[in-house]
Amino acid sequence: MAKVQAEIGVIGGSGLYDPSILENTQEVKIYTPFGSPSDSIFVGELAGRRVAFLPRHGRGHRIPPHKINYRANIWAFKELGVKRLISVSAVGSLREDYRPGDFVCTDQFIDMTKLRSYTFYDGPVVAHVSMADPFCPELRRVCLEAAARENIRVHERGTYICIEGPRFSTRAESRLWRQFGADIIGMTLVPEVNLAREARMCFLNIAMVTDYDVWAERPVTAQEVARVMAENIEKVKRLLYRLIPMIPERRGCRCAHYLDEALI
Ligand SMILES: [Zn+2]
Repeated sequence: MAKVQAEIGVIGGSGLYDPSILENTQEVKIYTPFGSPSDSIFVGELAGRRVAFLPRHGRGHRIPPHKINYRANIWAFKELGVKRLISVSAVGSLREDYRPGDFVCTDQFIDMTKLRSYTFYDGPVVAHVSMADPFCPELRRVCLEAAARENIRVHERGTYICIEGPRFSTRAESRLWRQFGADIIGMTLVPEVNLAREARMCFLNIAMVTDYDVWAERPVTAQEVARVMAENIEKVKRLLYRLIPMIPERRGCRCAHYLDEALI
């Protein structure tokens, strides 16, 4: 295990690359059996808690969603002792009432990715981990409470459909995702969420709506996404500053135990 330790991890999505959310920061390079994480991990303090921060796409947004080394990223957090992982992502909206600038406290996902490494257990040890409820109920509760205190508009539920990318959806696909019952769409939640569970971590996804996906006949551009992201990044930071100190020291959830039932 690495010498530097942290209890809470934050994976910054598009627009959140900057470790300056932390104080007394140390840059830590971690090598894993799966290769290198997206970047150095920055370990420091946030409202009195030890937090590790990793920009998912690397500083300068160098790594596209389908090339992210998800296993190395999650492994690196594990090495640091992280037990709670907060992932921040930019998403498209698949419904009128989830508007650009809104936050969603994701509670389900649908996996439409194609070419990723989904597990730490490639054999001979085999694990079929339960994903019925993919997100930590304790962290979700704290997140909703923190958003309410900060007066940030957040949707209590949302099904995130994860596509392979890096391209956006066709109109036909976007209509199909809506029929599937998905509320938001992105490219990075899977396999972050399942690997975190295999690593016995609690996982929270804070999704920020940056655009209406193409179903709304207002085709999305990468520039538009970047603009909304920039406008709302202060809100993400405010939410994290409020939320992180509210996380109970001891875990009152089952997240650490799913792996026990999963191993064959
Ligand atoms: Zn949990």
